[in-house]
Amino acid sequence: MGSFDAPMQAANGALGRKITETLVANGYKTAQYVDTAGEALFAAASLIPDGVSVGVPGTVTIRDIGLMEKLSEKKCRIFHHWDPKLTPKGRPKRLHDENAADWFVTSSNALTVDGKMVNIDGTGNRVAAMAWGVGKVLFIIGMNKVERDLDRALARARNTATPANTIRVGMTTPCVKLGYCVDCNAPERSCRAILILERVPFGREAHVILVGENLGY
Ligand code: SF4
Repeated sequence: MGSFDAPMQAANGALGRKITETLVANGYKTAQYVDTAGEALFAAASLIPDGVSVGVPGTVTIRDIGLMEKLSEKKCRIFHHWDPKLTPKGRPKRLHDENAADWFVTSSNALTVDGKMVNIDGTGNRVAAMAWGVGKVLFIIGMNKVERDLDRALARARNTATPANTIRVGMTTPCVKLGYCVDCNAPERSCRAILILERVPFGREAHVILVGENLGY
């Protein structure tokens, strides 16, 4: 997590606010731009009611801004599979509970200026919940993930987000050594499903908080 300097912050603000207008036009119920991670935490805590169930997939952004702790304070029931106490046997049910929660809170690997989200997944749980779920979905996205068009967003997801994530979880895929994607066929390949969310799917209530800081990968 890191702040941009003042001119960059101003530029991000102008771009970010324009993107939020586009997101609302694309069907998001709310989309707001905030300057800092602290403001994003406040905005998320204001959107998510006390005591509801919240699913949190593998996301660094949500944890970095302190939302897990805030949800605990709000007496929310949190389902997440990065729980160190989770056993392999309990993992399938936990993934199901994440996706069936009242709210699903995640980031996005990339966001285009015309409001398209690109995400790559290994298990598929995260992209599945982004595309369809019984609950509401909230995306919290740092401006470091904004790209001009879909090609660049796909490239970001492959060459920036995924190598950083594979390093984080200690994989041995080629991108760990190279720092970019070579479209490998390694057994551990974590790129197995790509979702391009062009508009909010029918029947879904979706919200976005766009943040003028570097958050996640
Ligand atoms: S396809 Fe392989 S090399 Fe490319 S980002 Fe995914 S895991 Fe890394």
